[in-house]
Amino acid sequence: MSKDSRLERNMRVVVTGGAGFLGSHLSDLLLSKGHEVVIVDNVITGAWKNVAHLDGRKDVVKIEQDVSLPFDVDGPVDFVAHFASPASPVDFQKIPFDVLRVGSHGTENSLNLAERKGAKFIVASTSEVYGDPEVHPQPESYWGNVNPNGIRAVYDEGKRFAEAMTMAYHRFKGIDTKIIRFFNTYGPRMRLDDGRVVPNFVNQALRGEPLTVYGDGSQTRSFGYYGDILDCVYRLMMSDLNDPVNIGTQEERTILEFAQAVLAATGSSSEIVFMPATADDPKQRRPDTTRARTLLGWEPTTSLDEGLKHTIEYFKNLA
Ligand code: UDP
Repeated sequence: MSKDSRLERNMRVVVTGGAGFLGSHLSDLLLSKGHEVVIVDNVITGAWKNVAHLDGRKDVVKIEQDVSLPFDVDGPVDFVAHFASPASPVDFQKIPFDVLRVGSHGTENSLNLAERKGAKFIVASTSEVYGDPEVHPQPESYWGNVNPNGIRAVYDEGKRFAEAMTMAYHRFKGIDTKIIRFFNTYGPRMRLDDGRVVPNFVNQALRGEPLTVYGDGSQTRSFGYYGDILDCVYRLMMSDLNDPVNIGTQEERTILEFAQAVLAATGSSSEIVFMPATADDPKQRRPDTTRARTLLGWEPTTSLDEGLKHTIEYFKNLA
């Protein structure tokens, strides 16, 4: 079978970070489309329970491996999806070197695997490449406003390096690469103790504890439900685009509004308390998704209320 006809029918996709929040859902999506997956994870922030439902399947391989160290995968590979990385600002201070290494060495090792296997490549990038943006909403053409040595730099600069390395493999080694920039994606399988705003507020509300707003709560984020967001990832994987694509929704809320939405959705009578703001916390964030909509025909279908409902159910069942 030629490489192209293989690609049209089914692919064997290596998903680094495949036991994490987004990686495990991407693995499910790929399997539902008839592809095979090789899940590679060192489970420092991911968890095998996220993919336990795939145990015993012939179209799934699981490998415990740190992709920041050189690694190989047996057999053919058609696509490498590099989704491995801690993603919570709390992790940027707890495990800063792991964050830096997976953005840098991990990306290069994953690109190297794609090159050896003659595979395509996609990297999970982030709205953090825009730092604390001075342009709003943020189009892909914006170069960003990143503090290169602040407490978020291990992630922001790691991902910026990852993008630069990816484009170098594309330009100078001819690899078919894609870059997706996620904006505050949420949903089931986020880690309970992840420290990000969605798991924090939902679990605080469910336990009747105060919701901890950092700063005055006027900073904004745009929340995207994982199902909508991964639909765009798949469209990008199937496309011939190589330039970065933003993915996220227009559901921009202040963090205070988001806290109120969580209280309403959980029916909780928790109070809202204000804590000190964190350094370099972006003040506003919303993606310009013109590329995703016009070049990939993508539209989100899940409202914040609906996405929150499913996420709350998930955390309730964990308790
Ligand atoms: N945040 C908050 N309380 C929390 C956790 C986060 O007010 O318990 C705020 C945080 O300061 C930021 C926003 O929520 O302004 C989103 O934070 P998160 O850690 O989810 O991700 P970020 O978008 O900063 O990467």
